[in-house]
Amino acid sequence: MDHIPHWIGGAERAGTSGRVGPVFNPATGEQTAEVALASAAEVAEAVTLARRAATAWRSASLSKRAAVLFKFRELLAARGEDLAAIVTSEHGKVLSDAAGEVARGLENAEFATGIPHLMKGSFSEQAATGVDVYSIRQPLGVVAGITPFNFPAMVPLWMCTTAIAAGNAFVLKPSEKDPSAALFLARLWREAGLPDGVFTVVNGDKEAVDALLTNEDIAAVSFVGSTPVAKYIYETGTAHGKRVQALGGAKNHMVVLPDAEIDAAADAAVSAAYGSAGERCMAVSVVVAVGDVAEPLVDAIAARLPKLRIGRGTDPDSQMGPLISAQHRDRVADYVERGKAGGATVVADGREAELPRDGYFLGVTLLDNVTPDMDVYTDEIFGPVLCVVRAQTYAEALALINDNEYGNGTAIFTRDGGAARQFQFDVNAGMVGVNVPIPVPVAYYSFGGWKASLFGDTHMYGPDGIHFFTRSKVVTSRWPDPGTSGVDLGFPTTR
Ligand code: NAD
Repeated sequence: MDHIPHWIGGAERAGTSGRVGPVFNPATGEQTAEVALASAAEVAEAVTLARRAATAWRSASLSKRAAVLFKFRELLAARGEDLAAIVTSEHGKVLSDAAGEVARGLENAEFATGIPHLMKGSFSEQAATGVDVYSIRQPLGVVAGITPFNFPAMVPLWMCTTAIAAGNAFVLKPSEKDPSAALFLARLWREAGLPDGVFTVVNGDKEAVDALLTNEDIAAVSFVGSTPVAKYIYETGTAHGKRVQALGGAKNHMVVLPDAEIDAAADAAVSAAYGSAGERCMAVSVVVAVGDVAEPLVDAIAARLPKLRIGRGTDPDSQMGPLISAQHRDRVADYVERGKAGGATVVADGREAELPRDGYFLGVTLLDNVTPDMDVYTDEIFGPVLCVVRAQTYAEALALINDNEYGNGTAIFTRDGGAARQFQFDVNAGMVGVNVPIPVPVAYYSFGGWKASLFGDTHMYGPDGIHFFTRSKVVTSRWPDPGTSGVDLGFPTTR
């Protein structure tokens, strides 16, 4: 059985806590490895080494840091397929999805190569006579990232590229369900020339997280995961004096207006709802069908479902893989039953699909006539279940989204530019798609939701990421008139 270690001080380090967690291949149900679960003492030692490394790394010139980022970007591009294969083996998503998450992470590395430009401050000459005022941005020191299982490569890359380019040391606590991608990134960083201790991986569970949240040498915590844990991280981290950004769960609505192109909307709904088995924080989990678009839209979605190929992520024919665990699959299947019992119309029942026998597979479910009081509507299911809510008007559709607890992403499908523009103005969500179902911002914007999808005020990566991982300092400076030091430098005596 493989033992997945930590990465501390620039090298693998076997766990010493005596605690390990199982890692499975979700496509076969087999346990493939055990991962070390760090004790508080192991975390403390890792952070001490990171603190020493941070002191030296912040002195590295901007061009040296950019050079490491360029090299890291090249290595990631060259080895992207290997990383995708690791993601598929522990997460289960199909290889094309895994390659997609690596490609999105690569964008973050590319953005961070521009760090000399991104760290610029501002300058005001002659704020008072002989006085200049300027601002500079400096790294925070040691910062931590705590990441979820569903994007084991991309979400760590959202954080570590920016944090490291800005001159911090970064300590990653990845999901214990699929930790190997983090170690792969660690090796790439070393090969790219990053000094030892600037990128650290402590594997673990709540014990490691709590040790990070209370460690006085950790200046900031960047978290992505479920809403209850995000809230806990935010409250505990800030109570210990840290800067925290904590991204939580989601229930993303896609509004389809009566003038929308039905085929395009149906294609979008299917790929956004069932891609990666619905285990995406930007998955569309609710389609709001406005007016008489409902019948043809539900028919068009339903007609596409039998063609979806579900199988092992390593099979190039598969479009959807298994869920992350047997327990999660059973929880999602239970929601299908609850939807049915609650009065939703079951157009497709994922429990009845023909599926590979081993592994944590579940077919796709389409529930029509869902109402906001049903728990399939209120809860984040995080699986291949799409709910259709029928609304009579745009105003009704908008109210559904704005009343929802979450506010991560949302989308509108319409041919009316004015309607789309009004939606963008009205809707309470952090990311909006117009005829785009999953509007994940490119790396030079920032990613983040509203309401229970984000605790804190700073979004992830892009300009907000630079802001989060640096602090500003303003210098007010006055020099005596030139030539007044007693040495005649040849300046005129009056200015
Ligand atoms: P999770 O909240 O269970 O775990 C996230 C991280 O927190 C993991 O590293 C885990 O080890 C740690 N953790 C779990 N329970 C903890 C506890 N009680 N105390 C301290 N730490 C704890 O999330 P998950 O199941 O790994 O990921 C799925 C969730 O993440 C979904 O809710 C999804 O919407 C959300 N997510 C959100 C975004 C976003 O950008 N908003 C992106 C990806 C995933």
